[in-house]
Amino acid sequence: MRIRFGIAGRLFAAFAGVAALSIVAGIIGWVVLDNVDTAQKTIVDQAMPVVVEGRIIAETSGQIVAHGPRLGRATTEAVRNSEAEFIRSKTDQLSASLSALAEYGFPRLEVAELRGVVSELAANLDRQDKIVEARIELTADLLVATGQSLNAARELSSLSETLTSNAASGATVVISNLYELAEDPDRLPETFDALDRLVEGDLFLLERMFELRMRASALGLLLHQLNRASEPNDISWIRERYSDNLRILVRRVALIDDPIRRKQAESILAELSIDSSLGTTNLFDVRSRMLQLDQDLIVLADSNRTLTNLMNERVAAVVSHSQKIAKDASEAAENAVEFGSLTLLLQIALFVGIAGAIAWLYVHRNVVRRLTVLHRAMQGLAAGHLNVVVPTGGNDELSEMADTVRVFRDQAIVKQRLEADRDRTEAELRRHKEELEQLVSERTEQLTETNARLIDEVRNHDIARTDAEKANRAKSEFLATMSHEIRTPMNGVLGMVRLVADGPLNRRQQKQLRVIRSSGEILLGILNDILDYSKIESGEIAAQHVDFGLHELAEDVVALMQGRAREKGLTLTLRITEDVPAVVVGDRQKLSQVLLNLLGNGIKFTDRGTISLTILKIEEPDELALSVEDTGPGIAEHDIEHIFEPFYQVTEHRRRGQIAGTGLGLAISKRLVVAMGGHIGVEAKEGDGSRFWVTLPLPEGDAAALRPKAINLPDDMPSVGSLRILIVEDNVINAMVIKAFISNMGHKPHMVTTGEQGLQLLDNMAFDLILMDISLPGIDGVETAARVRAHTNPIVRTMPVIAMSAHVFENEITEHLEAGMDAFIGKPISPEFLAETISWVMGGPQVGYNRSDSAGAGADELIVDRNILSQDRAALGSKRGAMMIQTFGDTAPIQIGDIKSALADGRADVVAETAHALKGAASSLGLPRLAHHCGLLEARAQSPEAAQLAEKLDQVYEDSWTALENLWIELETAEHDDQVVTEGVKT
Ligand code: ADP
Repeated sequence: MRIRFGIAGRLFAAFAGVAALSIVAGIIGWVVLDNVDTAQKTIVDQAMPVVVEGRIIAETSGQIVAHGPRLGRATTEAVRNSEAEFIRSKTDQLSASLSALAEYGFPRLEVAELRGVVSELAANLDRQDKIVEARIELTADLLVATGQSLNAARELSSLSETLTSNAASGATVVISNLYELAEDPDRLPETFDALDRLVEGDLFLLERMFELRMRASALGLLLHQLNRASEPNDISWIRERYSDNLRILVRRVALIDDPIRRKQAESILAELSIDSSLGTTNLFDVRSRMLQLDQDLIVLADSNRTLTNLMNERVAAVVSHSQKIAKDASEAAENAVEFGSLTLLLQIALFVGIAGAIAWLYVHRNVVRRLTVLHRAMQGLAAGHLNVVVPTGGNDELSEMADTVRVFRDQAIVKQRLEADRDRTEAELRRHKEELEQLVSERTEQLTETNARLIDEVRNHDIARTDAEKANRAKSEFLATMSHEIRTPMNGVLGMVRLVADGPLNRRQQKQLRVIRSSGEILLGILNDILDYSKIESGEIAAQHVDFGLHELAEDVVALMQGRAREKGLTLTLRITEDVPAVVVGDRQKLSQVLLNLLGNGIKFTDRGTISLTILKIEEPDELALSVEDTGPGIAEHDIEHIFEPFYQVTEHRRRGQIAGTGLGLAISKRLVVAMGGHIGVEAKEGDGSRFWVTLPLPEGDAAALRPKAINLPDDMPSVGSLRILIVEDNVINAMVIKAFISNMGHKPHMVTTGEQGLQLLDNMAFDLILMDISLPGIDGVETAARVRAHTNPIVRTMPVIAMSAHVFENEITEHLEAGMDAFIGKPISPEFLAETISWVMGGPQVGYNRSDSAGAGADELIVDRNILSQDRAALGSKRGAMMIQTFGDTAPIQIGDIKSALADGRADVVAETAHALKGAASSLGLPRLAHHCGLLEARAQSPEAAQLAEKLDQVYEDSWTALENLWIELETAEHDDQVVTEGVKT
């Protein structure tokens, strides 16, 4: 199945696309920002700490490197301690930074290498610290020892100085003496002696003392040199000089004359001996050890330098690596930002492009552009341009719109063409008209002449046609009148024949009577045909729609014909299929007429074999099919098409002397069937029987409406015994009927025709109940009832009175009851209701007012009420019934005549009175239409309408009388042939 994707769907898809783009844009933006965030987090959490730690490491290592030599140079314990402490703290800091670096994800190998170098440097610096500490101690010791030795040397020098000056003073004295001696040449030997002593004593001592002083100074100088000695050889050399000097000094000191001074000098010399000042370790060893320590420090300094360089290299590598990390992270962040910006820019461009594409390619192309094109097409059409192009294709609302516009355009084109055609035709017509006018004016003259001639002819034809019609009507009227006129006595004859036949007759008489009867019936049939056809010819026939028993009708008709069939030795059968309803709605009379005709023909034209009536139901259309089949001579094909025409008879049949008809039966049947809304036809072959069929719409009817109304009292009705009933009824027919009903109920009726007679009789005879007609000559029923109630005899006064009237209006009933009547019965009287009412007034269960059945709507439509007549016949019996009908047939025309003459004399009261009497008789006989008509006449006796009603009365009476007669004969025949019917049905 192809799914229709309409405008709404497309717009929804477009908006959904744009919405999806926004969602994708959001997701991409989120991813980009997440990247930037990650990059920045890397900078903040990793790169920056690494850089900071790298810088701290560089600073710290620089400080360590700077303070290493300071530690080496420390000469005091305080300086050493401070430097060592500083270096240790920095080493720890460096180590912590390295751990932090490792934690921040710095390469562990590099960190381990640097940590190794730092540990080595720290160990070196520790060693350096210890050496420095030892050197400081040694320096202090050396300083003390050197100070002591220098003091001793200075003491010795000053002592030697004293000794020198003493020696110099002695020499001087000698010299001064020499000068005195040398001036005295006599003292030359003394002089020489003095000179010898001077040279050998005093000058020698002076020289030795001077040498002592020199040697003592030389020791001091050597001690100073020792302090400055930087090489072990220098120390050895100084030590040798010092030992030499000290050895010479020992010998010179020994030359000191003064023993005290000599002692003093010897003690100083002891102090200056090499081992004296420092116990076992002498100055020179200390100085050597110090030189050794310096040497160690130099070695350590070298090692430190190497390590420092290595550390610096590593630190530089770490710093540069951390900077690289930082640089990389910042580059990554920059890249992320750049990439994000680029992505977002691209995305904006792409999405703007896609949204634009959706709007342009999808919405614009699918909706806006098509709408614009349609709009232009519609504008064009509105402006009358029919050559506009309407877009095609697609399967949505717009394409439907386009289709509609296209249809509109096509219609407009067609309309335009039609208008053009019309204009052309009009022009053509105008031209023709002009030509015609020309022609007409030419011909008019010729025609005027011809016309004058034609008018003459037409006039003559009109006269002839009117004459012909008149003649035809006269013929129909003559036929109708004749047939009617002959029929009336014929009915009388036949009726009497029946009555006579019911009497005690011998076989011969019965046979003769049967011949009379059948001849009469044939004659009546012919007359009926002619009358019917004349009626059909001169007016419309309306079909009735009333419930009737179809089975019953068929059985009656077959039973009616059974005698004739048997007379000819034919078998007459009836077959009704089960699905045919027992009761149908239709025109009983017309149908029975048709069936009688068809069966009559069948019997008439068949010499041997069977005639069968079949009734079955057909589905399509929902109708009933009735067919009459015979084994007769059949009908030639060329006759078949004519036999439904009036007066047509098959020549062959006529020749065979089979015809005893008018040739109207089938024509009448056809018209009746058509009037009933059905069809009639025949299937026949010459020499092979015929099958006449009729199809009719006969819907199922109400069976309850047809319940027989014979006196059939309910079982539970209390018995009132045999009552003496006074019947006050002026209408003979009614009186006969009521009397018959009362007798049949087992009561004793007593008839009077006026109220006065009734009251008179009540004085003389005993009664149990009064049946009182309301419309009576003289005092009416109401007045009579009032007088009964006012009677002196209490038995009469309390006697139940039942009112009888055809007036069944509520107010009238109430009026009757108020006048003292006990109950009311509407006319025509139903025997059951009469029995119930009598039972009630005599103390039985209550019944309602009897509203006459025939007083209902449509009662006037029915000509003869089969039920009422059947009831009457059941109550009166065949003979009395026939008498009753005869009485009616005798009196009714007289009453009609009376009505007419009273009307002519302007005596409305007589008109109403007589119409009332006729109405009563008619309703008692079951002639609702006549009763209704008389009722109207009675009610409108004083109005101008009365003349019209009286005029129609003849016709209504005729129809009613004919129907009554036919029905009576039918009822009579049905009873007569009852036994035969049963047999016929059985076959
Ligand atoms: P009628 O019977 O009075 O002559 P109908 O109109 O009933 O007039 O019949 C016309 C003619 O049709 C008859 O005269 C007869 O020739 C022919 N027809 C009618 N019914 C039959 C039939 N069952 N078999 C043969 N011919 C028939």
